[in-house]
Amino acid sequence: MLGCSGSYGAPAGGACSGYLVRAGATAVWVDCGNGTFANLQAHLPVEDLSAVVISHGHPDHCVDLYGLHILLRYGLERSGLPVYAPGGLEGALGGLAGGFGPTFEWHVLDDGAAATVGDLELRFSRTDHPPPTFAVELSGDDRRLVYTADTGPEWSVEAFGPQADLVLSEATYQHAERPTSFHLSAKQAGEAARAAGARQLLLTHLWPRLDPTISVNEASDAFGAPITLAAPHLAIRL
Ligand SMILES: [Zn+2]
Ligand SMILES: [Zn+2]
Repeated sequence: MLGCSGSYGAPAGGACSGYLVRAGATAVWVDCGNGTFANLQAHLPVEDLSAVVISHGHPDHCVDLYGLHILLRYGLERSGLPVYAPGGLEGALGGLAGGFGPTFEWHVLDDGAAATVGDLELRFSRTDHPPPTFAVELSGDDRRLVYTADTGPEWSVEAFGPQADLVLSEATYQHAERPTSFHLSAKQAGEAARAAGARQLLLTHLWPRLDPTISVNEASDAFGAPITLAAPHLAIRL
């Protein structure tokens, strides 16, 4: 985990959404929310990065692409790093940077899109969230990780089939108070993971002002088993 604060950064190093998924020599940075590029460099030489996945264009999931661009272009002088992202993001983000030049090789996501990055197979599914947003399944070595990205309850991890080894689910809210329907409560995250037969559930994207203990208890009750709370620099081996 490189960061897991929901929507804005939390105090004490609480970076926004970002995850490093590794299989053999393959390393994919999934979501580059604010604060996650600094944390990424604590775990991986940037030149070893295989690809970037951006689930959607909300800033808490994409703005650290700028730091990567600067380092690749002017520091490492590398080009052509694959970036998988919704359509329009290259132009929207590139506007602030004066364009990304040849730094990235952009791949536009669609519902049901698939890709191979080194030892990892990626599949994408459009979620229930206002800008085009894509959950991603990363599989390799007979293990499957599903990341929900941001979503409301009209989309479920079941879209990727049952029994993922790990579901990394957003759980922005707690069930008693859900200001919008564009995100999940911890209870909804637990219910969806249970319905999909997930082996493990990891909660992320919690609204920073909520008490995470309540979210964990709510999700555990709904999931029917203990769950784990994501935290920066937490590593999980599948
Ligand atoms: Zn978000
Ligand atoms: Zn969002």
